Amino acid sequence: MTNNGQFRGATLTVDLRAVRANYRLLRSRLGAAALCAGVVKADAYGLGASYVALALFAEGCRHFFVAHLDEGLALRPYLPRSADIFILNGLPRGAEQECVMAGLVPVLNSLEQAEAWFDCAQRLARTLPTVVQVDSGMNRLGLMPDDTATCAKNYSRAGVFDLRFVMSHLACADTPAHEANAMQLAAFRQLAALFPDVPRSLANSSGIFLGRDYHFNLARPGAALYGVNPGPAAVNPMRPVVRLTARVIQLREVSPGDRVGYGLDYSAPTASRLATLSIGYADGLHRLWGTHGAVFFESKRLPVAGRVSMDSIVVDASSVAPGCIGPDSEVEVIGEHQPVDDLACAAGTIGYEVLTALGHRYRRIYLGADESVPSVVLEDTLS
Ligand SMILES: *Cc1c(COP(=O)(O)O)cnc(C)c1O
Repeated sequence: MTNNGQFRGATLTVDLRAVRANYRLLRSRLGAAALCAGVVKADAYGLGASYVALALFAEGCRHFFVAHLDEGLALRPYLPRSADIFILNGLPRGAEQECVMAGLVPVLNSLEQAEAWFDCAQRLARTLPTVVQVDSGMNRLGLMPDDTATCAKNYSRAGVFDLRFVMSHLACADTPAHEANAMQLAAFRQLAALFPDVPRSLANSSGIFLGRDYHFNLARPGAALYGVNPGPAAVNPMRPVVRLTARVIQLREVSPGDRVGYGLDYSAPTASRLATLSIGYADGLHRLWGTHGAVFFESKRLPVAGRVSMDSIVVDASSVAPGCIGPDSEVEVIGEHQPVDDLACAAGTIGYEVLTALGHRYRRIYLGADESVPSVVLEDTLS
């Protein structure tokens, strides 16, 4: 790109100070025995893993989780060695050396992975940092109970693995009353007991709000750091992180019955003022969202008119007085009037999916990025 984004159609503002405030809030909910990690997989839920990780590091976070080894390799240069990066999806076959060399810590999810990592440690005659994930009932990732016992017996011998954590993941943490929470907690306690003295990790964002029993030694929040409500049934305690605005590129007055967009699906009920915005499904605004979607201009709600196109949408701006909105006006897609969870609801999905779908075409502005760098640079020059 040859410009700084000033001609882009839409602007994504990521408030790193809000990410830091959210991290502090989550940490304050944890007991003194529990550390707070930062989950920055999928490019920090679409918001920029290097920026977010540095902001969290500046806040004292030293445990970072990504999903893929490649994500860990990409993030590693941004973080000092005092920060651990854990690979949630496990150790890819044949990637042991790569993992060791980059200083990344695999989450072992199967006996095969445990064996490969164990062999690698013996070959190198080194103790390797390791996380073991056990399946406490979600049936997605991690060792099944029988394999957990085998793993504990065969591989937790002192000196080969430096077992940093035994972890599991909750399936229903966002529904506090769900019976699965207590069942998974009990199963996790039993399985983790096979690794005596190894620190434990269970809670994601929502899990932190289930209470002290779920905190153990390390919590792993992702979504809540980014402003998504960890308890969808209650008022969101997190600070909003994302603001998304789109530019008006054209305005037109239409008559009753005039039709709009692909398929001419929409028919203007009355004489209307329509605004075309330079944002579309290529920017993560799903076509399904169009049916119930709206954007905001100041505090006025402008409903979507017709189908979402790849690069544009049309909204009904009749409620805005003539002359008050025009080409280059900015409308809010996510922000004060429409939090990320509300947009998700209108699209029939969840905040997680909205954020990770945002795409790469925006002008991106990071608020507070300059405040996160110095401590990192300082630490590296001191160590
Ligand atoms: C994604 C993920 C998290 C973070 O979950 P949030 O709900 O975003 O807080 C934690 N642990 C595991 C294993 C994950 O896959």
